[in-house]
Amino acid sequence: ISSKLPNVGTTIFTVMSKLASDCGAINLSQGFPGFDCDPELLDLVTKYMKAGHNQYAPMSGIPIFRERIAEKTKLVYGVKLDSETEVTVVSGATEALYAAVSAVVKLGDEVILFDPAYDSYAPAVELNGGKPVFVPLEMPDFSVNWNRVKSAITDRTRLIMVNTPHNPSGYVWTTKDLNTLAELIQDKDIYVVSDEVYEHITFDGRKHLSLLTNSLLRERTFVCGSFGKTFHVTGWKIGYCLAPPQLTDEFRKVHQFLTFSTATPLQYALADFLAEPSRYLTLPDFYQEKRDLFCEGLKETSFKFTPAQGSFFQMVSYGHLSQEYDYDLAVRLTKEIGVASIPISVFFSDKKDHKILRFCFAKENKDLFIALDKLQNIK
Ligand code: PMP
Ligand code: GLN
Repeated sequence: ISSKLPNVGTTIFTVMSKLASDCGAINLSQGFPGFDCDPELLDLVTKYMKAGHNQYAPMSGIPIFRERIAEKTKLVYGVKLDSETEVTVVSGATEALYAAVSAVVKLGDEVILFDPAYDSYAPAVELNGGKPVFVPLEMPDFSVNWNRVKSAITDRTRLIMVNTPHNPSGYVWTTKDLNTLAELIQDKDIYVVSDEVYEHITFDGRKHLSLLTNSLLRERTFVCGSFGKTFHVTGWKIGYCLAPPQLTDEFRKVHQFLTFSTATPLQYALADFLAEPSRYLTLPDFYQEKRDLFCEGLKETSFKFTPAQGSFFQMVSYGHLSQEYDYDLAVRLTKEIGVASIPISVFFSDKKDHKILRFCFAKENKDLFIALDKLQNIK
């Protein structure tokens, strides 16, 4: 078969998680919590399953669930959405990202992707006939160089894909970033997909700025969110897309033929669970404790690092210790010292080695301590 994605193999997350499991290593590679969700959430799912909510949900999502997502958006960002026409429930942010790209990208359209980017973006663009145009982020903090974005925009640019807080770096967009993007696209026919799955995981008092909070961006942005990250249930694959009515119409045309709808009992359960805002408002503190604990331990290792601004990932550099390719080092550390990580070259379009590894600290503290102990042996 002639491949539509000739350069794509099995994702690094699958590769490293399998290696970690084969080696019995502590798995700080793939981003998922190493602890379970709130038992009340499990009780709610069981309750709704037993009550017979086991058939297809409405295509756009159960009304009360969409309403609760709109309430959360109002409470957190001060933005009022119409849950009928601007909120769609999806089977994970991965689906939302794909459906949004598919809704706007036509054959030959250019799509600006920041480099490095989460690994699903470029394939989504390519499968829809688009051409990824990579704009390098500024090292070492992974901030956006807006002059580079400006020069990358052409008459064929249809979409810009944003990710804040950023995976793998944790960089959190500033008001200036939002305003500059708005300025750059205001008189152009360009849409935005904003991946905000780590919206509730920011540190040191920093606030996540949803692109919805900028009125100009709000008119042309698909915001993608995920309950997997927020409520420690990555295996449920449930999230949402927020977009103005015309964009939502187009988004739903794709969504209805990708998955049609999302697991019914999960939607009812999450709707009830969302009624108590402290369940997501406490997330920054919950994860800050883990980030701080992890960074304290990292100080005792030979790695160099700057504490992450957001997300549940911490990057470390090792160029002063070894010239090994990051992928080889990640594999070796998994096999030899029993700690799995993600080599960040996989997020770069040219797979260039920057001698940086990414560790996920969404784990039980005891596992973080064991991992840190092992990492302290690396000289
Ligand atoms: N975007 C980013 C930046 C991610 O890190 C992830 C990872 N899980 C996703 C999207 C996918 O989210 P979901 O599991 O809800 O599909
Ligand atoms: N988003 C997760 C990460 O960055 C992985 C999700 C997946 O395995 N597809 O680690």
